[in-house]
Amino acid sequence: MNIHEYQAKALLKSYGAPVAAGVPIFSAEEAEAAAKSLPGPLYVVKSQIHAGGRGKGKFKELGPEAKGGVRLAKSIDEVVANVKDMLGNTLVTAQTGEAGKQVNRLYIEDGADIARELYCSLLVDRSVGRVAFVVSTEGGMDIEAVAHDTPEKIHTIAIDPEAGVTDADVAAISKALALDGAAVEDAKSLFPILYKAFNEKDMALLEINPLIVMTNGHLRVLDAKVSFDGNALFRHDDIRALRDETEEDAKEIEASKWDLAYVALDGNIGCMVNGAGLAMATMDIIKLYGKEPANFCDVGGGAGKEKVAAAFKIITADPKVEGILVNIFGGIMKCDVIAEGVVAAVQEVGLKVPLVVRLEGTNVELGKKILNESGLAITAADDLDDAAKKIVAAING
Ligand code: GDP
Ligand code: MG
Repeated sequence: MNIHEYQAKALLKSYGAPVAAGVPIFSAEEAEAAAKSLPGPLYVVKSQIHAGGRGKGKFKELGPEAKGGVRLAKSIDEVVANVKDMLGNTLVTAQTGEAGKQVNRLYIEDGADIARELYCSLLVDRSVGRVAFVVSTEGGMDIEAVAHDTPEKIHTIAIDPEAGVTDADVAAISKALALDGAAVEDAKSLFPILYKAFNEKDMALLEINPLIVMTNGHLRVLDAKVSFDGNALFRHDDIRALRDETEEDAKEIEASKWDLAYVALDGNIGCMVNGAGLAMATMDIIKLYGKEPANFCDVGGGAGKEKVAAAFKIITADPKVEGILVNIFGGIMKCDVIAEGVVAAVQEVGLKVPLVVRLEGTNVELGKKILNESGLAITAADDLDDAAKKIVAAING
């Protein structure tokens, strides 16, 4: 689960991290009071969407000459003018895709005088099984390009969970960021704070890009992106309350209500599979035959007919889906339950695209019988390879 920048900053501030004063607003009427509550004379008006690259982004409605989604303002009037210009419009960034995202919230922040823009993130480094700091002196810009073109400028410092962030770790991070003076002192509290927040709140990613050195020599968190581990949300009521469903894929929200492991993707073949491994293999084989999956969907082992039907409905509701592949290996899951779920869903919402079903395992004969007697136009497949070929052929007409 992702949250907005202003929410992430409030969270980090509660741990004692240095962030600027700021006020989130939801309507243009709130802009003046928000700006007046800040010291000035420099303000920043920041689009709050669940995507990065806002500064370099463009508003669809404003044309290519207009400024991006993060704007500096030198007076309260300028803040208000920028708020009116941005709010409600659609921001397209490198991360939003063509469609962009509507900006419904803005964050008005006290502006900083920047000396250096650095990069600092925390993530779970699976290669060493530890939380690691990933840092670079080349912050503020496209970190992917830095990683690609100059990987030697990215430093990874993994943290021993027993010891936590030691003085030696702080020194290593500070050295990698070429910190000096007051920033070195700030670092001694900041990096342990970030690590503590990451662990206590079960974050999956905490990305600060940029972490800045201000002209007064001190550090400040200038941007913050936080993703939380969805499997740990049950123990964080405060984090769940930050969820902004308008930023999420409607299909994924519906899927989460049914506890389905569903991820929307960009392709045209809808997939309903049981087991994450089989779901991955199904996506791979679709790609092997030249098509792209429209989703990852694992209905799990213990799903009942209703859950299967819900999954099928979510998949068919996706306008991109030109064909559906149901691939079930009945181990704990029974093939007849899948068949009943599919039939129930189709009876309710209809079926406008080709459907290929491959069933194997527990109660497979009963499952096939249910599908055959349903009168639905279903193409049966013998194995995974056959199923992928058939759905690709059906779409290619
Ligand atoms: P992003 O484009 O979505 O990553 O948004 P950021 O919050 O990282 O802001 C983009 C850029 O705007 C930063 O890299 C800075 O160069 C600039 N910026 C943001 N806040 C301030 C500020 O307080 N003062 C100044 N001078 N520049 C800022
Ligand atoms: Mg940024």
